[in-house]
Amino acid sequence: MKMFNEPNEERGCIVASEECEANEASTGQSEGGEAMAEQAPAAEREEEGCKVTIEAGITGKVEHERRQRKVKAPEVVEVPPERAKVVRTIIKRLKKLYPNATTALHWSNPLELLVATILSAQCTDERVNQVTKTLFQKYRTAEDYMNANLRKLQMEIKPTGYYRQKARTLKALGKVLVERYGGEVPSSMDELLKLPGVARKTANVLLGTAFGIPSGIVVDTHMQRVSRRLGLTDQKSPEKIELDLMRVVPRRHWIFFSHAMIWHGRLICQARKPKCDECALNDICEKRI
Ligand code: SF4
Repeated sequence: MKMFNEPNEERGCIVASEECEANEASTGQSEGGEAMAEQAPAAEREEEGCKVTIEAGITGKVEHERRQRKVKAPEVVEVPPERAKVVRTIIKRLKKLYPNATTALHWSNPLELLVATILSAQCTDERVNQVTKTLFQKYRTAEDYMNANLRKLQMEIKPTGYYRQKARTLKALGKVLVERYGGEVPSSMDELLKLPGVARKTANVLLGTAFGIPSGIVVDTHMQRVSRRLGLTDQKSPEKIELDLMRVVPRRHWIFFSHAMIWHGRLICQARKPKCDECALNDICEKRI
């Protein structure tokens, strides 16, 4: 099977609903992505030409983040043996398919991953990588973002969409990092959730990918779709899906599982036309399509 170097199925920003979230998978997607989408004013959405369905406004963002913060470690619930066996098989096969699964975003330190994840909101990882290639040469520290000329920064990240809001978020992020964390990206869920543009999904991406800490499972649109189709959850909200998955997937696999499932969603279990005939999980999938 082809792996990570091949172009994924993500398209540009001019997509609707589920596909528009495809980039989040990098993540990370980015919950920064979710938060960003929710923050973006209607006028800017139209200007960017992104035909996305965004229901929440700023109030929605606050509520969303409040809910996200409530996702704690799952209670100890006994997993039925059959379900545990299926999950073990899924993980085993995913390891064969995507042995080195990780984010598609390019980064070399936690700050770059955080910035890239925020930029990936409602945009493809490919496009973000194009932008960050030059951005990261110019902005190397949190202080650089804090002191950035807002207009210039907007223009530099414009291809990623929602550039006005994203630029404001990056400046605010730089300021908080400098003033509260000595310019470093913190490595705990509680602290990450206090940063501008960061909610639970982005925090999970940062902790798992940059720090190797299995804080939870990254639930983006791919994870939602694939885990539901496989029969690993009946839930619809990312928070509840994450809890369901945290209960059935052993903690030591959380980081790998997050990346691998997202890649499987991109490459095989696609939103509109899942490739069930060539899917290695076909015989154990409940195919709740
Ligand atoms: S069998 Fe089909 S629905 Fe199930 S995971 Fe594979 S592609 Fe998705």
